[in-house]
Amino acid sequence: MKDAERKMEAAGNSSPAWLANAPKQRTSFGKSHCVMFDADAIGNLRKELIENLGWDAARGILERVGYQSGRNDALALRQRYPWPSDEERSPAGPRLDHLEGIACVGVRRIEINRATGKFHMTGSWPDSYEAEQHLKLYGPGDRAVCWTLEGYTTGFATEFFGEKIAGLETSCRGRGDPVYGFELRPEREWGRRRPPALQEPERRALQRALRPLPARHDRQRV
Ligand SMILES: [Zn+2]
Repeated sequence: MKDAERKMEAAGNSSPAWLANAPKQRTSFGKSHCVMFDADAIGNLRKELIENLGWDAARGILERVGYQSGRNDALALRQRYPWPSDEERSPAGPRLDHLEGIACVGVRRIEINRATGKFHMTGSWPDSYEAEQHLKLYGPGDRAVCWTLEGYTTGFATEFFGEKIAGLETSCRGRGDPVYGFELRPEREWGRRRPPALQEPERRALQRALRPLPARHDRQRV
């Protein structure tokens, strides 16, 4: 991760010398190989997913990408850094999100008690690249749009706590809200407020959208 920090600091340097001196080894965190893409390129990928597969399937795919990334980061942190307490370890996920360029995640409130199964966290991501890209391409809509971030925080919290945690973006500038907000709690506690991406209709939409792809791929190869 130190290489990634150096590269990001170098990005603000007007001298081209940093390019010549940039580290030539790949950037990694734990066993994960980390890559960085231009936000506009990711925004375009997001647009392609929405327009070819539909909103629900695009959301499902991007949440799964974020979820895997969050789980890997939490696992790498646990394996590499022996923090003495949950209170010290839990803010590391938001800080990694920031370093990886996804957003600057702020924690408003966090309550953790492993003995009683208590996990509750609220916060915000005031510079979400996803909302920035969404607003640029579509303008304000009628839904929260920070799907990768929802997935990342859910995956990180699930790996960190050792129980299935579900995250929901409660307010989003992508739908015209004045601020961003998210909430994480165990999936068993959500009840009727269960985050929509975890519900069956979205899973079915993703399966329907992806089913024809192998056939199209085969035809192209013939
Ligand atoms: Zn958002």
